[in-house]
Amino acid sequence: STAKLSNIDKKSKVTFQDVAGLKEAKIEMMEILDFLKNPENYTKLGAKIPKGILLVGPPGTGKTLLARAIAGEARVPFFSMSGSEFVEMFVGVGASRVRDLFKQAKEKAPSIVFIDEIDAVGRSRDKINAFQSNDERENTLNQLLAELDGFGTNTGVIVLAATNRADILDKALLRAGRFDRHIYLELPTKEERFEIFNVHLKPIKKEDNVDVALLASLTPGFSGADIANICNEAALIAARKKKKKVDQEDFNQARDRIVGGLERKSKIISAKE
Ligand code: ATP
Repeated sequence: STAKLSNIDKKSKVTFQDVAGLKEAKIEMMEILDFLKNPENYTKLGAKIPKGILLVGPPGTGKTLLARAIAGEARVPFFSMSGSEFVEMFVGVGASRVRDLFKQAKEKAPSIVFIDEIDAVGRSRDKINAFQSNDERENTLNQLLAELDGFGTNTGVIVLAATNRADILDKALLRAGRFDRHIYLELPTKEERFEIFNVHLKPIKKEDNVDVALLASLTPGFSGADIANICNEAALIAARKKKKKVDQEDFNQARDRIVGGLERKSKIISAKE
């Protein structure tokens, strides 16, 4: 996730073409795109356009990518912040950042607000123990709720938020008129991994011996982010060996290196638990 605080990116060049697999999520995102592009089709019938959409899925499955793609497709400004940044802030700063973010988004509507790692601010209050309680987190969450309630459904601002832990979110966030639509992303299947490889192989100069179907079958459990990582790592390995093109061996090595990294990571996690 590369989301930055109150970051405006008018030229999100990401489109749905950059998002491989995720067929169902993309269909739902197309509908949201249509809300942004043709709001009058809905409002003239008296429909309320959804305000808040929660993207739920494991790390690296493309939540940020999808949010950027929708802004890129609609050619609307993209305002983003990451929930985790607020936990360490001084009291008062988080809430005013949220206020500022929504103010800018409303001024530039139609627009997208994206909140990455919303669980960091939106964690259910009873899931926090006394040692973790954090006033700033609470203030930020309250400001976020106030902002969501404070603008009309048809102002052209659509708020997307991402989490990999929807189960720990404060129920207040999920109430009607807030994040009441959920889109689920899952780890890619073999066929989807094949498609994701093809997206990330596009800029890479590779030998004809590179077997994309084989790579897809050798990477069960890998996320889109892991696959992007393999492709780049393979190119780095080939460059280090002064090769003209990246070959299958480089991809195999890159895969092994990333499997090693993932295994170390999961060992650390299980050791902690
Ligand atoms: P996190 O939960 O860690 O924030 P995320 O779900 O937001 O992760 P992204 O940041 O969107 O994941 O994905 C990281 C990168 O992985 C993307 O920029 C892209 O390069 C690649 N990627 C992930 N999913 C896909 C996909 N479905 N198609 C193509 N590339 C993908």
